[in-house]
Amino acid sequence: HTDAETDGDAVATLRTPIVAVLGHVDHGKTTLLDRIRGSTVTEGEAGAITQHIGATAVPLETVSELAGSLVDPTDFDLPGLLFIDTPGHHSFSTLRSRGGALADIAVLVVDVNDGFQPQTIEAIDILQRTETPFVVAANKIDTVPGWNPQGDVPIQESYDAQSDRARETLDERLYELIGELADHDFSADMYWRVQNFANNVGVVPTSAETGEGVPDVLTVLMGLSQRYLKDAMAIDVEGPGAGTVLEVKDQKGFGTAIDVVLYDGTVRADDTVVVGSTGEPIVTDVRALLQPRPLAEIRTEKRFEQVDAVSAAAGLKIAAPDLDDAMAGAPVRVVRDRSREEVVQEVQEELAAIGVTTEEEGVVVKADTLGSLEAVANTLEEAEIPIVRAEVGDVAPRDVTVASTADEERHETVLAFSVDVLDNAEQQADEGDIRIFESDVIYRLVEEYEEFIAERERSQQDTILENISRPARFRLLPDHTFRQNDPAVVGVEVMTGTLKRNATIVDFEGNEPKRRGQVKGIQEQGEDVEQARAGERVSVAIDGPTVGRQIEEGDELWSEIPEKHAKVLEQELTDDIPADELEALHIYLDKQRQRDPFWGK
Ligand code: GDP
Repeated sequence: HTDAETDGDAVATLRTPIVAVLGHVDHGKTTLLDRIRGSTVTEGEAGAITQHIGATAVPLETVSELAGSLVDPTDFDLPGLLFIDTPGHHSFSTLRSRGGALADIAVLVVDVNDGFQPQTIEAIDILQRTETPFVVAANKIDTVPGWNPQGDVPIQESYDAQSDRARETLDERLYELIGELADHDFSADMYWRVQNFANNVGVVPTSAETGEGVPDVLTVLMGLSQRYLKDAMAIDVEGPGAGTVLEVKDQKGFGTAIDVVLYDGTVRADDTVVVGSTGEPIVTDVRALLQPRPLAEIRTEKRFEQVDAVSAAAGLKIAAPDLDDAMAGAPVRVVRDRSREEVVQEVQEELAAIGVTTEEEGVVVKADTLGSLEAVANTLEEAEIPIVRAEVGDVAPRDVTVASTADEERHETVLAFSVDVLDNAEQQADEGDIRIFESDVIYRLVEEYEEFIAERERSQQDTILENISRPARFRLLPDHTFRQNDPAVVGVEVMTGTLKRNATIVDFEGNEPKRRGQVKGIQEQGEDVEQARAGERVSVAIDGPTVGRQIEEGDELWSEIPEKHAKVLEQELTDDIPADELEALHIYLDKQRQRDPFWGK
């Protein structure tokens, strides 16, 4: 029986490193975790894995059995690896310990065919920010044309069994991947060539499907942990436990319970614990500590067994009164021989550190956990989108109410990350024309919001553009006066911009704009048209002037832009008008500003 963790008296001084698996959707995170679990289960009694709540422990013996010659167990004194079962950087960033990442080390899974994808980049940014050591699993190598699968063997063994062609194709893909890592400031190489893992990221070719290279992933994780995490893994196992809430849920027979990953010390069945909540921290007495039954006993009726104590690192369920408002991602602390106040303050400080800054005006954000809320908030901050309210929990009517009080139309929205929208909230949103954006992927949530806003602004600008005077410069063509006046009908060539019907015509004589009349109609080859674009020759009926007096053949004339319109054009619409109009606008502004430097400002 290797389960030293639930044995109160068996004390290790080095705890198991906590491992997270990250990467883009469909690149193989779940399959890799299943493979690690599956292959180790079949390795027999001695090296059986232990199923925890929300995590899987792979003991060192199992790693070394699997890895064969890759691992000499005497090189290691860390007890094994604890994999968090929920893959993805969402859970990774959600799960923290004392301000840092809860996972001590990570596997970044990248599909060799697909290369870097948005969530790969998101994951790598998070790993960089949290300074978490990681290894890259270059996954799905079995899809290389001509690949001859070898099963759960170290990669070198499988590699040697491949044809030259398959090997070459794989090498090409791996080097592309190494190039992509370099583009993101990570110097990487095949893991067996890496001399110093502090400076270089190791790439392990894997197939989560066939198992090839999986022993190598475990080996590198063990090696990295041993080398870089050993100090951090030395804990006072007997000390008061510290952990992070994974999930809050109802546990039959026990009321509301919390799933916790414990990363420090021990929690005992008679402890008092402090748990972070949506309000004040909860102080409560443990009612029961639950862990899954060992695999052999899984057929018994109850899936969980009560234990007296659990030591880090481990996943467990804590049942206790008053846990309803406990928050996923929040800290859990055992009080033991300290004062409650001290521990409550510790929890409060940690919660405050995961702060999300809200402002007077902005969007409403709801997320499933504290960590994800922070991650969404960070992304919004980068996109310069202010937040008025940020909370953990489903979208409720009061969130819609808050959104509806926004001053700016674009803030009348709720961004919901991995949470449900309550029916009455949805109805209220429909009635009040409040948009609710939902997604389980942070960047998509923000992207969808931004696209919606951009689309709306575009359509609003189109309306503005239709009603605004646009710059146009045109020339009266020689020998094309069809009528002298009332109205004057002349042939013109539009030089820049768009000449529209109803435009007021001005002439810059010196720098003084002089009104010359108004365009009553435009004809192109005998047909009435609304406007003429740069380069076109049209005949124009102008009310007001007489050709030969106020205007002359060969004159260069402008359509007048009222000062207010010029201001809107220059300050808000420069991206929305064609380049030649923009050029015309600048000439027009220059002319006006020679006379009045503040014109249109
Ligand atoms: P996740 O979204 O990252 O958890 O990806 P999954 O583990 O769900 O895998 C997505 C798909 O890719 C599934 O259909 C898997 O069977 C498949 N897959 C995962 N790893 C491999 C692999 O190494 N080789 C092959 N051929 N398919 C794989």
